[in-house]
Amino acid sequence: MKLVRYGLRGAEKPGIVDADGVVRDLSNVVEDIAGPALSPNSIKAIREVDIASLVPVRPERLGPCVGRVGKFICIGLNYSDHAAESKMAVPKQPVIFMKATSSICGPNDEIVLPRGSMKTDWEVELGVVIGKEARYAPIEDALSYVCGYCVINDLSERAFQLEGTGQWVKGKSADTFGPIGPWLVTADEIPDPQNLNLWLEVDGHRYQDGSTRTMVFDIPYLISYLSSFMSLQPGDIISTGTPPGVGLGQEPQVFLREGNVIRLGIEKLGEQRQRVIAFEKSPFGKDAE
Ligand code: ZN
Repeated sequence: MKLVRYGLRGAEKPGIVDADGVVRDLSNVVEDIAGPALSPNSIKAIREVDIASLVPVRPERLGPCVGRVGKFICIGLNYSDHAAESKMAVPKQPVIFMKATSSICGPNDEIVLPRGSMKTDWEVELGVVIGKEARYAPIEDALSYVCGYCVINDLSERAFQLEGTGQWVKGKSADTFGPIGPWLVTADEIPDPQNLNLWLEVDGHRYQDGSTRTMVFDIPYLISYLSSFMSLQPGDIISTGTPPGVGLGQEPQVFLREGNVIRLGIEKLGEQRQRVIAFEKSPFGKDAE
């Protein structure tokens, strides 16, 4: 199933995409695509609904495909060729960092350059959405904790991230630095998450073109590993790292500027499209006036 959230920012409603690609309102079935609604029992209940009986809608905006995300956990340098372009060693254990959940936005929302940003960069990533509480999950059972998958753009301000700031979270957490969606695709539709092509273009130039095959640490390993340090809850998201082709790795380096248009996608999980705008021209900048 493809689950979505649609409507104005902060007031999104749950929906499901039918076989013809039409979004239908799921409000009478679940309150939101979030938390407990992602549990195996809830997913089973959604699956039993007669989709044709749900009201079709024509959303002007898709929101992030998961609401009320508790933890937005990212894996750094999880593709060896991306570690090489970043001039960093392939880690012996997964590198973990967090993004502020306030960075989460819809798949096609505008990307807002933070004030003073000169080095905002892109990263297409496979997102893993947790559906069941996990503690010390065994590797061989780890995929049973997954509700589904989605496309993520892990935007990063490289100066804030890397230039003397001590750790990465400052460069990863600005508003709009975490578009997720368009859909949460349930795990049954993705039998092999380690064999998905993923790509990203800026103004029509393809910078990233990879496959989840080349992850250093695969998804079962990551879930098991993370759950040995913290419990994972329904609605937590793990962003599993980016393949090569980020702006930081270009020669000369390329970073996002106002007016750029980013398109990215993952096989079977849909596409995102974002226009880049300056903070002062964003809803946040206008609020500040
Ligand atoms: Zn990343």
